Amino acid sequence: MAIRQIITAPDTRLRQVSKPVAQVDDGLRALMDDMLETMYEAPGIGLAAIQIGEPLRVIVMDLAGEDEEPSPRYFVNPEILDPSEDTCVYEEGCLSVPEFYDEVERPAKCRVKYLDYKGNEQLLEAEGLLATCVQHEMDHLEGVLFIDHLSRLKRERVLKKLKKEQRLAAE
Ligand SMILES: [Zn+2]
Repeated sequence: MAIRQIITAPDTRLRQVSKPVAQVDDGLRALMDDMLETMYEAPGIGLAAIQIGEPLRVIVMDLAGEDEEPSPRYFVNPEILDPSEDTCVYEEGCLSVPEFYDEVERPAKCRVKYLDYKGNEQLLEAEGLLATCVQHEMDHLEGVLFIDHLSRLKRERVLKKLKKEQRLAAE
């Protein structure tokens, strides 16, 4: 396993639409292992493959609390079904938008159809933080960031700040 570099906004690679995975094989499992390790190290609770520069429809996640056993989840080619009409609001953050958090409203519940680590088809009923996290990561597969759900003013402000920090870091 290896820790990979996480791409941060406004890097245009984050705007790519990720491609479906043809087969869950050892190569893909190696990528998922790297993604999980990278996410734990960051630390974060979810990571999409495009965040480490791989435009594939793959997500890893772990919502276990600090005192709980790790409980990694892997989603290959995920699809969201039946998003609920009722919504909930969570304060979201993103490893690709460091040190910025804001509230986003999303459907409170949904179902997720996906292939797991072994390539078996699964259907998950998600609500609460899990539903929010799945939808946040699914957005990455379409090239969408959580800041896209905020006002243009807020989005431009955070992108400008990140650009400036990246410029300073490069000097
Ligand atoms: Zn994110």
